[in-house]
Amino acid sequence: MADTDVVDSAETIVAFRDSARDFLQSKAPLARLRRLRATAPGFERSMWKSIAGAGWTSILIPEADGGLGLGLQAACAIAEEVGRNLLSEPYCAAAVLSVAALQGVPESPLKAELNARLGAGDALLGLAWQEQLGQMDPLQIETVAARAGAAVHIRGSKRWVVPGTGADGWLVSAAEPEGPALYWVPAGTSGLRINDRQRVDGSLMADLFLDVQVPAANRLASGQEARKALERAIAMAQFVQGAELLGIARQAFDLTSSYLTVRVQFGRPIGSNQALQHRMVDAFIQIQLAEACLSDALRLSESGNFSSAASASRVKARCAHAAAFVTRLAIQFHGAIGVTDECDVGLYAKRAMYLSSWLGGEAAHRRRYFELAPRSIEADVSAAERTSFPKDADWAAMPEGEFRALVRSFLKKHYPAELRFPPRRLRWHETRDWYMTLGKQGWLAPAWPKAHGGMELPPAKLLAFIEEFEQYGVARLPDQGLIMIGPILIRYGTPEQKAFYLPKILSGEHIWCQGYSEPNAGSDLASLRTQAVLEGDEFVVNGQKTWTTLAHDASHTYLLVRTDPNVKKQEGISLLLVDLKSQGITVRPIANMSGEEEFCEVFFDNVRVPRANLVGELNRGWTIAKSLLGFERLFIGSPKQSQHALAQLDTLATTLGLYTDPAFAARFAELQLDVADLSAAYGSFADIVKRGEELPSSVSLLKVWATDTYTRICALLAEAAEEHGGDASNESTSDFPVNAVAPLMNAMVTTIYSGTNEIQRNILATQVLRLPR
Ligand SMILES: Cc1cc2nc3c(=O)[nH]c(=O)nc-3n(C[C@H](O)[C@H](O)[C@H](O)COP(=O)(O)OP(=O)(O)OC[C@H]3O[C@@H](n4cnc5c(N)ncnc54)[C@H](O)[C@@H]3O)c2cc1C
Repeated sequence: MADTDVVDSAETIVAFRDSARDFLQSKAPLARLRRLRATAPGFERSMWKSIAGAGWTSILIPEADGGLGLGLQAACAIAEEVGRNLLSEPYCAAAVLSVAALQGVPESPLKAELNARLGAGDALLGLAWQEQLGQMDPLQIETVAARAGAAVHIRGSKRWVVPGTGADGWLVSAAEPEGPALYWVPAGTSGLRINDRQRVDGSLMADLFLDVQVPAANRLASGQEARKALERAIAMAQFVQGAELLGIARQAFDLTSSYLTVRVQFGRPIGSNQALQHRMVDAFIQIQLAEACLSDALRLSESGNFSSAASASRVKARCAHAAAFVTRLAIQFHGAIGVTDECDVGLYAKRAMYLSSWLGGEAAHRRRYFELAPRSIEADVSAAERTSFPKDADWAAMPEGEFRALVRSFLKKHYPAELRFPPRRLRWHETRDWYMTLGKQGWLAPAWPKAHGGMELPPAKLLAFIEEFEQYGVARLPDQGLIMIGPILIRYGTPEQKAFYLPKILSGEHIWCQGYSEPNAGSDLASLRTQAVLEGDEFVVNGQKTWTTLAHDASHTYLLVRTDPNVKKQEGISLLLVDLKSQGITVRPIANMSGEEEFCEVFFDNVRVPRANLVGELNRGWTIAKSLLGFERLFIGSPKQSQHALAQLDTLATTLGLYTDPAFAARFAELQLDVADLSAAYGSFADIVKRGEELPSSVSLLKVWATDTYTRICALLAEAAEEHGGDASNESTSDFPVNAVAPLMNAMVTTIYSGTNEIQRNILATQVLRLPR
């Protein structure tokens, strides 16, 4: 679509969306839909004229031809509002599909005349191309066009045509000996019969039976031009359908959200039930993915980076899924009233069913995406050979491409190849050399201020730096000093604490672990009981921490301890810096499911900690610990793990010949799309960080979707590996290309640590969706 499409400016899109919203809210209430449904033709010409007056039928017509010359984005913005308001008029079919097809044909007096009538709202045209059930390829044409003197004889039938009854005519595809052609067939042409088909939402479609003669001048395009016009118009319509489905999903979601707060059962609003809240969060995630998918696909198509058919399929599959998911949930959450005709949510569900089934359903589009899109989406990590790397530079001024290339070359030169994408958390003895290499280079603490030995990267560069590491498969270091306590000390530490601890983190002399969780304080961390009692200049610490990652490799731990048991639980917690060599500390490693000793339990028996090791004020530890959950929340939702696992699954599938199994291919396609849309959602949150703005609470959705997706990919990897899916070995073997078990073991912890996915859903439900508590 790139060559001819216009990129709409952001302001134009907002203006169009706003005016479409106002227009539809005042002129197209749902009562109108109820009045018009099941009547023929199911829409009103006077309304179409108003729609044209608002410019909607001219969006895709070039300015030179009297149109507005806007692009697909503007059409999608309107479509979203059309979806929210369930307009009765066939916007997608008559203002996008047929109009786009017409723009793809060569200039002619007929085209100019039709464009003028379209722009003025005097004509409603349909594109009649489909002949078979479930047809996706517009070039499978059995309708034939043959010369008959000065006229052309067209014979055949077209199915699922919108608009049917009530249209002024159709652009009809037909096969000629030289290839496909596109003809203009006006309504009322002798030999044309229309059979209406009632749709579930009350609208009409039609089957057209053609045995007609039209003037040869009615041939609008032939050969490659006809092919391009058809393919492009159908792809554009699928994008617009996606936007309309997104609008449907949003409105059904909003209606349901309101209902959950007003409907009371068991003495409280039904929306306060966690079972309903979590499902609403899942619906919200689908809507956010659909939004990210649509804008990413629009961007890709406009930049010409990706086949428009693949992008259109991606959009249609995701948006159809979101609309089905949300509208069905909406009906369920309205109880019996949800299945009445009087309740609006049913209207949204039925419109979603109609739209999803036309121009290819969800499964068909997933299949097509699978056929057209690259299966393995791991980033290219090739880099130029370099011998010198600056320790310091004006990073902010360096162009991002140059910066990324520099980081990549550094990784290529210095990062041990055997440690790329390790299938487990590495121990200190395995990563020490790399830690020291980064330390010597001055690149260990990219986010820290230069004054403390960091790189002080601005947000966009920091993101690029971390993304390059992830793409290269660099193992996670024992990094609690670098990413947690270091930044905490920089912000809240005393000058002495900063001077003593920060250099030792950078030199690798101190390795830190995080002492937060306890046997009875996991998700409810604030109920922690490890006690610190002040005696003179020392705290005396008693209690137990657990799940402390790499505590057996660490020299120090930062501890959340209870310093006042008599106040609200969050208000009696302090943060202490503790040397693990202190007397009274016992560190006991715990073997995980894979047999690795990744985390430990840590016991404190009358451990004496200097008062000078208190960070910030007494009893302010909770606020300090939480204050760092800033933009690092983005990284936990990074798509990299899923992208890598998908590439592994692709290798496995190729080796075992699994793609010939349609059931496997369908599951792969679903995951492929889930990863693509995760990447798009990540990208939209990353843009917020790059702009230097604060991340909204909704970023939690990334963690949920990233880790759920990663787990599902790894589960399929283990399943598809047959007997290898039960291998005890944690390493790849020479006779099998991938490790099929370790990724699943690894994935299963990701939905637990850093706040379980259930807790993330709780946060989203109450803080983002504002469902009742
Ligand atoms: C690999 C790994 C490394 C870790 N490293 C560290 C570390 O270095 N330092 C550290 O301090 N901690 C660490 N943790 C601990 C981690 O933070 C906790 O496991 C996590 O917060 C969950 O606590 P829990 O295990 O006690 O589960 P619980 O809180 O007991 O939860 C059990 C189940 O109940 C669900 N649940 C609990 N409460 C609710 C609720 N209100 N609503 C809905 N569902 C609920 C949870 O989602 C979970 O599914 C690590 C954990 C793992 C797996």
